[in-house]
Formats: sequence, structure tokens, C-alpha cells
Amino acid sequence: MELYQLTIHELHDLLRKKEVTSREIAESVFTRISEVEEKVRAYICLSGDKAFAHAERADRNIQNVSGNISVLTGIPVAIKDNICTEGIQATCASKILHNFRPPYNATVIERLEKEGYVHTGMTNMDEFAMGSSTENSSYQVTRNPWDITRVPGGSSGGSAAAVAAGECIAALGSDTGGSIRQPAALCGVVGLKPTYGRVSRYGLVAFASSLDQIGTITKDVTDCAIMLRAISGHDRTDSTSVDIPVPDYTTVLGKNIKGVRIGIPREYFIGGIDPSVEGCVRESIKVLEGLGAVIVNISLPHTEYAIATYYIIATAEASSNLARYDGVKYGYRTKGQDDLIDMYMKTRDEGFGPEVKRRIMLGTYVLSAGYYEAYYKKAQQVRTLIKGDFDKAFEAVDAILTPTSPTPAFRIGEKTEDPLQMYLSDIFTISINLAGIPGISIPCGFTENGLPVGLQILGRHFDEEGILQIAYAYEQATKWHKRRAVIQTTDIRL
Ligand code: GLN
Repeated sequence: MELYQLTIHELHDLLRKKEVTSREIAESVFTRISEVEEKVRAYICLSGDKAFAHAERADRNIQNVSGNISVLTGIPVAIKDNICTEGIQATCASKILHNFRPPYNATVIERLEKEGYVHTGMTNMDEFAMGSSTENSSYQVTRNPWDITRVPGGSSGGSAAAVAAGECIAALGSDTGGSIRQPAALCGVVGLKPTYGRVSRYGLVAFASSLDQIGTITKDVTDCAIMLRAISGHDRTDSTSVDIPVPDYTTVLGKNIKGVRIGIPREYFIGGIDPSVEGCVRESIKVLEGLGAVIVNISLPHTEYAIATYYIIATAEASSNLARYDGVKYGYRTKGQDDLIDMYMKTRDEGFGPEVKRRIMLGTYVLSAGYYEAYYKKAQQVRTLIKGDFDKAFEAVDAILTPTSPTPAFRIGEKTEDPLQMYLSDIFTISINLAGIPGISIPCGFTENGLPVGLQILGRHFDEEGILQIAYAYEQATKWHKRRAVIQTTDIRL
């Protein structure tokens, strides 16, 4: 086994016992990057200098405190390109922020710093996190490590691909409608979107502020619990972060799930779902039943309105959030302008890609006088109904189980011509953001041609412990998480 193949908790054991150094781990990860990054293209920028400086700091620490270190000390973590790290570019994969170097750290980065992490670089994403395949990046298309002719999912596709390819040990992503869970499912790794308010968004570039959450992408559930604990907690600089204690999420791992009630929503097993995905998820239900869980059929009756509701609320908020990119304060500015208005228009025309423009137009329209009541207000009312479905379901069950994505990884280019097809990739993840509850995706099997399938487990607000407990019990009973992607090195024309 190479070091880059190990998990956070395995590497921590080795570091603590002084059997390896953080420098050796960083070297292993960067060697791996030099071998496979040309094929995978997970990173927009690497931060080798910072990584090795961090690794040396970690090694000094380990010497000083004689092995008594926090669990992320010396662990290489990749960061999605919409999370601010002081002095390292954060472009949101957009031309409009191509030269933006944040002068400050996001709160999650401050917390990882305190833990002694190693920063490997910024990962590719759909521009401003709008998309489900990472093809909307203005830099490059990231490939799925399990099959490089396919997408890694999105919008945190770079982070998921980097973890699956061994180009980092863990990663941060952001999830507005599924952008952590869906790429985690398509890349065969673990992705968690915490409850809205659990993790500070200070320093996360805003897309749709009532939906955005930062979360984790890891190789297994234990690592997920470790990362979540590190980044969670109240923060004065984000008024939506909630002031309640952060539990040690690792303590629930290993608790048995006898008698835990798991709901299976009828609306999530519909036509259009790939038979191999449905097969894997149905098998998983049996595994959980075998572990003592009580399976209950439930209904979430407003599910069919989720996509429409989301694409009104998310675009409305995006049109407002993205108004700040005007060529004046930071980022890209057009070269040939006649006057101020012309400068605004050309800057935005040249700086934003097609999907971002589509959303700004849609969002501006649904917020405009005369249409606000019909669209935005109505969408907010339906959002309340969707949240009500979950509240009601959680009176009868402790967790809810669904597929994460209706299909496994699709081919690069397959859905780019048809935005509506692309929007459907998030049909099982979007309601969760509308309701603000936590959700995790874990590997639950493979299709016949070796593509990973993800299982989504949902919990009550702030019950990340509950879903981690179930996820861990399932993981230990199945071992899908032990499989690693083998990256094709033969030349494939794309
Ligand atoms: N795919 C969804 C969208 O395009 C969700 C994106 C996300 O979660 N950031 O908006």
C-alpha cells in the first residue's frame, strides 16, 4: 500500500507512532498527482510550496508534543476553488475571478489550520458551483477516475475525483443542491452535506445563500466524522451558523443500529432511475435490515416540485449574489470599454460562462416586479411544504434512505446540450437543501461496467450523528469503500 491510498485515521496512527512523517505523506500524494493528474484534471491549481511548508510544520509539531497530535495534523486536504485561502487563488472556475487571491482565510480554513492540515491545492468545479458534471468550469473538464471518458459529477467534481484518485487524502466541497453528495456517489467516495447552520460559510463564495453549505469528501465514514468535527461550530462572522455544541462525531461509530427506524420514500423509486442503481439501493436496504434496522415505507408527497422550486430560489439568490462582479472591485475587467455602463456589460459578458448567464437571467426574471409573486413567493411557499414533508416523516422514522443520483457517472458531453437533463441529475439531492437537513452519500455497490453507485442517508436537523452511525454500520458490513479506482493510463481520445 502506498501512503496516498490510506485514510486520515490510518495515516494518523502512523504519524502518532512516528512510523512515517508528514513530509513522506505529502511526497506520496504529490508523486501520485504527477502520475495521474494529466488524466484526471482534478485541480485548478496546486499549492506544493504551501503543502510542504505545512508538512514540515506538522513534523515539527509531532516531535515537540511527542506524538500527541490532533487527528488532522499532517494530512493533505484539497479545497474546492470557491473557498478562500489567504494568498491562494479562488476563482470559482470562472474567468471573472481568474486573478482573485483572497486576502483572508475562510473560517473552515482557519479551523483546518488549527488542526495542522496540509493544503494540497484548489479543485476544479462547475463555474460558481452551477452544474452537476464539472463541465461548466471555464478551465478544464475533470474526468471520473473510475472511467476517464465519464464525468465525476458536480459541482464539487474536482474534490471528489481528487479523493477517488488518491490525489489528496480528503477534500472540502460545497453543496447547494447536491454538489457534494452527487459527485461523491459518482466517484465512489463518501460525501456529507451538513445541516444548514452547522458549518460557517464565511469565506465561501456565495451562490444561493439560503441553500449553500460547506461539507466534506472522504474515503470512508470515519474520515467523514473526523473532518466534520474539525470544520463545524458557531462562528460570529456567519450569522446563519448556529450556536450549539459540536459533538465528537467519531463516538457514535460502531454503535449498533438495532431498532433504528429507516424510512424509504416511495417518491424516490420512480421511472427513469437506472436499474443498476435501484438494484444496489434495494440490496442496501436488505443489508440494513439484516443489521437490525426497522424499514418503514414513507411518503414525501411534494417531492415532484423540488426541482422547479430549487431552480427558482437558487437562480434568484444567484442573480443577487453575482451582481457584485462588475469589474470594479475585483476580478476580471474588460479591455475596451466606452463608458461605465459599457464596462459593466462587457466585463460580465466576457467574464461569465453560458450556464451562469442563464441563471442570472432566470433569477432576475423571477424576482422582477410583476413576476415575483407568481414565481419567487410561490417557490418559497412550496419550499415550506417540502420541509414540512420531512418534518412529518421524521415523526415516524429516525433516518431516510434514497439513491443519491438516478444514474451512475454519465459520459462527458452527454448532457451538456440539454440543461434540463443536467438539472435532473440532482432530483434526489435538491429537496435536502430546501429543507436544510443533513445528508450523506456512501458507496453501495457497482454497476456491471464497474461504475460506483451511491446511497443517500438523511437525518433530522443537526442529527449528523444519527446518519453517521447508520452509514458506518453499513460500511462495516459491506466494504465497498475499500475498492480503489484504477486510472486508465492508455491514451483515450476524448
Ligand atoms: N447541480 C445543482 C445546480 O446546478 C446543484 C449545484 C450545487 O449544489 N452547488 O445548481
